[in-house]
Amino acid sequence: MLMRCPDCDKPLQVPDDKVGRRARCSACRSVFVIPDPLAGMDETIAGWLVEDMQQVEQMKARHAALYEQLDPASRKTPAMRRA
Ligand SMILES: [Zn+2]
Repeated sequence: MLMRCPDCDKPLQVPDDKVGRRARCSACRSVFVIPDPLAGMDETIAGWLVEDMQQVEQMKARHAALYEQLDPASRKTPAMRRA
């Protein structure tokens, strides 16, 4: 997988099965622990889900408000409006 050196920000290709192990940056020679990419991804996805749920709730509230503003006549069925 690809990650960035925490010291010099250089993109580094590290073996996927070495997560949690130490690696050395080829550019600046600093030693760091390879982070678990899945752990970080879970956090991000959870954040997105919370955001989406808030948007859904806001949309529902907006729709309800719009419906309340409608003229009672426009709530009738199309057949009734034509008559
Ligand atoms: Zn580095």
